[in-house]
Amino acid sequence: MKARGAVIHEVNGKWQVQDLEVGEPGENEVLVKVMASGLCHSDDHFVTGDLDVPLPMVGGHEGAGIVEKVGSKVTRVKPGDHVATLFIPACGTCRYCAKGQSYICNNGAGMETGRAMDGTYRFHDSDGTPVGGVTRLGTFSNYLVCHETQTVPLPEDIPFDVACLVSCGVATGYGAAVNGGVKAGDVVLVMGLGGVGANAVQGARHAGADHVIVVDPVDYKQERAADFGATASFASVGEARPLIDQLTNGQGVDVAIITVGRVDGDIIGEAFATVGKAGTCVLVSVGSSELSIAVSPQDLTNFAKSIQGVMYGNCSPVGDIPRLLEMYRRGSIKLDELVTRRYGLDEINQAVEDMHAGRNIRGVVVHEH
Ligand SMILES: [Zn+2]
Ligand SMILES: [Zn+2]
Repeated sequence: MKARGAVIHEVNGKWQVQDLEVGEPGENEVLVKVMASGLCHSDDHFVTGDLDVPLPMVGGHEGAGIVEKVGSKVTRVKPGDHVATLFIPACGTCRYCAKGQSYICNNGAGMETGRAMDGTYRFHDSDGTPVGGVTRLGTFSNYLVCHETQTVPLPEDIPFDVACLVSCGVATGYGAAVNGGVKAGDVVLVMGLGGVGANAVQGARHAGADHVIVVDPVDYKQERAADFGATASFASVGEARPLIDQLTNGQGVDVAIITVGRVDGDIIGEAFATVGKAGTCVLVSVGSSELSIAVSPQDLTNFAKSIQGVMYGNCSPVGDIPRLLEMYRRGSIKLDELVTRRYGLDEINQAVEDMHAGRNIRGVVVHEH
């Protein structure tokens, strides 16, 4: 069937909005009418080449929509269901899913190729050239076909432009704090207040942190930090340091969560130096694959510090996404406040520019059909 989507054709290129042909769903696959897609910074790493993926590729992995059609063996969802897309499958039966670690589901292997699990493509352009979909999704297209294990049913009263954010940024940020080791009474540093960082702040407060300090160079982000529960905000770690010293008797924070747009070894080193003894550095952000973390091995051992990577907030999204949405319904987690601006698909490059300029906590593309 025909679809319209935003495609990246070359490293450092612009998103090109174009017609696409979407294939029929296979026996375990689902055709989703995508209603809304968040602009998650992770997509930008395909554009810059930090994440080396085959191009062309339909962007977007933070989606919500309606199931249009299902393959003969699909059991998780049915036509008409509202769904969130999962950028990592949650098969439920691999070794990791079985242990409650769906964030590292074995069926995520090969997702960077943008091809379906059987190795074939679900998108083609109008002259028949195969086009990948980011993380086997491609939510910048108004229709997509994905494996049923990359969907989770949603309650119908949740607006799509809110629900889409839960499928990546909210689960990732909230989980980074709650599953990353924040405990009651902690002093927590969150580095970078975007769609993920804002939720790390909310998660840290829910986990019982006494102080959550946000560091972000953009004035607007510093102003918004308190909306999500931050107790203080600064432009840099250096500016935050006197308060951190005052709150921790000079020891350093208990947990530092890195949610900047693009991470490098120096940022990890700065976070590591800011956590105190037995403290944890939680790394959420994506960067290049270079081997360079500026960390003292002696400090790591002598002060019993940890560096903890988290993927998908170390959540099991089939359980955690509905739970987060119940919390939103009860008013205990803020989601509407995350959406700074909505865009039409044709405005996608403006949306990306606004993201880079720090004008948005989260921008959302609202699809037409
Ligand atoms: Zn994302
Ligand atoms: Zn699995």
